[in-house]
Amino acid sequence: MPALPKLPLQRQDMAVLMVVETLAEADSPAAVGERLLQSLQVLIADAAGGVLLQAGHGTATPLAAVGTAPALAARLAEALPARASALHCLSLDELDIDSSLRKALEAEGCRALLLLPLTVAGSCAGLALLLLPKAYRLAPTQKRVLTTAAAVAAQALTAALRQQALAARPTPGPAMPRRREPSGRTVDAVTGLTSGHQFRALLDMEVERARRYHESLSLLLIDIDAFRAFNDRYGHAEGDRALARLGEILRQELRKVDNACRYGGEEFAVLLPRCGAGAVERLAERLRRRIAAEVFTIAGQRAPLTVSIGAAVYPPGSPVERFIRSVDDALCRAKAGGRNRVVLA
Ligand code: GH3
Ligand code: MG
Ligand code: MG
Repeated sequence: MPALPKLPLQRQDMAVLMVVETLAEADSPAAVGERLLQSLQVLIADAAGGVLLQAGHGTATPLAAVGTAPALAARLAEALPARASALHCLSLDELDIDSSLRKALEAEGCRALLLLPLTVAGSCAGLALLLLPKAYRLAPTQKRVLTTAAAVAAQALTAALRQQALAARPTPGPAMPRRREPSGRTVDAVTGLTSGHQFRALLDMEVERARRYHESLSLLLIDIDAFRAFNDRYGHAEGDRALARLGEILRQELRKVDNACRYGGEEFAVLLPRCGAGAVERLAERLRRRIAAEVFTIAGQRAPLTVSIGAAVYPPGSPVERFIRSVDDALCRAKAGGRNRVVLA
């Protein structure tokens, strides 16, 4: 059999190949990050190191570091926003960083950073940083190779993060004491809502019912906005009081057939049987407004709270995991879009 004629494989082709392989091989966010950073270092050989930051709801977290000490990666995560609108190569002078971080970077031979955003469908999943000895101007083909590598890595990263989130959720731990009601239902002691560990069983049951009776079923995922800051400012006990109040509001606003669970620390999942597209949007919007209008007072001071909501109607026949993921994606988009909003999957 004749050999297929060879094409010259160049260094930049190799790097793109390496990134494409992440899709098949990397099964954790850190593995995606490491693989991407290694490929970027193939492309830009004199890079002193690299860091991948995850653009979370709140502050950025370093997901992977290659050739960079974890402590330095953590400081970069603190100093830089984990989102960037486009590929940039900036000298340290152009970056808004303090002098001690600047010195730490210079000690590593770094005088400039390449900022490569990892974007999926317009929303930023993370930011790859490459520590460079100087700021380079990039040719259009080089930009194209880098942004293509970032697009592929962004898909892999999103999939790996989702996988991780699904494995970790729901996460009611010892911090969320529960009590059992006479009906046999376990209730979260802080919010009075169904406790999160029952959510999956309830969802499976409602999906089965919706399938059998050809009824619609909707799901909301609700996450409090900037709740870490709320706790930091007013204390954990006030945070718990606000959680309890939200639990009350949800119980007031929902029908008897609906089921609101405390899904995680400050996240709620609401199952809405016989609720279709128009109704779920109206309900989610009503809840959002009701919560934003609620007057939480702490020591006589107003402490406003808002929530972001992801919502979807169950697509008949769809796997349940995919359904949850689609609502979770919608919630992520609500956060990325500025919070205090409802996004339909
Ligand atoms: P955002 O969702 O808008 O992106 O920002 P956030 O600050 O709410 O970020 P994230 O959802 O990641 O943080 C959740 C915070 O919620 C962390 C923790 O301080 C707080 N939290 C979680 N569970 C509890 C709880 O049981 N009680 C209190 N008081 N706080 C909690
Ligand atoms: Mg949260
Ligand atoms: Mg939150």
